[in-house]
Amino acid sequence: MEFSDEFDFENRIVDAAELPEDAGDADNPLRPKNLDEYIGQEKVKENLRVFIEAAKLRNETLDHVLLYGPPGLGKTTLAGIIANELGVSVRITSGPAIEKPGDLAALLTNLNEGDVLFIDEIHRLSRAVEEILYPSMEDFAIDIITGKGQMAASYHLPLPKFTLVGATTRAGQLTAPLRDRFGVVLRLELYTPEELAQIVTRSAGILGIKIDYEGAIEIASRSRGTPRIANRLLKRVRDFAQVMSDGVITLETARTALDRLEIDELGLDGNDRRMLEAIIKFYNGGPVGLETLAAAIGEEAVTIEDVYEPYLLQIGFLSRTPRGRCITAEACRHLGYDFPSGAVNAAPTQTSLFKDDQKDNK
Ligand code: ADP
Repeated sequence: MEFSDEFDFENRIVDAAELPEDAGDADNPLRPKNLDEYIGQEKVKENLRVFIEAAKLRNETLDHVLLYGPPGLGKTTLAGIIANELGVSVRITSGPAIEKPGDLAALLTNLNEGDVLFIDEIHRLSRAVEEILYPSMEDFAIDIITGKGQMAASYHLPLPKFTLVGATTRAGQLTAPLRDRFGVVLRLELYTPEELAQIVTRSAGILGIKIDYEGAIEIASRSRGTPRIANRLLKRVRDFAQVMSDGVITLETARTALDRLEIDELGLDGNDRRMLEAIIKFYNGGPVGLETLAAAIGEEAVTIEDVYEPYLLQIGFLSRTPRGRCITAEACRHLGYDFPSGAVNAAPTQTSLFKDDQKDNK
């Protein structure tokens, strides 16, 4: 496989966003089907277990659930699990796909009693669509207006009771009225290497790939805390294992394969390194504003915020200050640079992935 020196944001192996090869549909065999199969996120699972059990005991629908966290951590998977555990069906859609209020009305009226409606990227719903979502979440009914002027007529349409599971990478962008209508708000965290190793081992079992523990840990520690990336790396490393070591993924095969794919021991690829180097070389270590940095490396600001930064913040390679992004001494050491003299040595104290976590975790 050849890697060009140019930015290759489109085809990043360590991109947490979904690629066609991830087979992200409901029939993806790697998706856990119930809470017991879902590895990690213990707090989230514990809470969900209680809420689901209570709803079942009371014979009621589950309260609406908002899941938030970076891409690839298992939000869609959890929506499917919630439906399975409740014994109902799930309908999957996304904010941008619901263009008009009529699209949402069609979705809602086609649900069966108790069903789960999963809306990914819910922060991207249009205002007009949100307006009908409010009464449907609260009263399980919508008012539809047909015609104009004197011919206008309003119909009150009752809906089946349903559970809305909303997912977002940015809870801070949700409007307050929408956020307030979720009874359960859960934040997903990046996974530890041990948890990811379990996920890799489970996926290897399903795909019929032989892997030992050291091989799994090696893939896990280069997966940026993200199951989607771990599964993707597993599939790539398998190819090397077939040629190098009779199909068994060992520490050595994993290391060689991942080095060849230019993913370093912390999971950073050429694009991460170039972004961090840009901060060092062009902005003397920062602070540099998000938009400026995005323009400098030819990437969208939202992608930097949603996809690259969570992990770089988590491992203490970047810090966010009111004046912009700063490199840390750890990042310079890792990349083999001296910490720029005169740079702001902002301690990597950022432990939360979202600016307004306090509010969200209420
Ligand atoms: P999101 O909706 O947050 O972007 P997904 O639910 O699509 O993420 O998860 C991406 C992939 O990662 C899934 O296909 C699934 O195989 C795997 N995955 C996610 N979370 C877990 C988990 N907790 N345990 C095992 N596999 C997981």
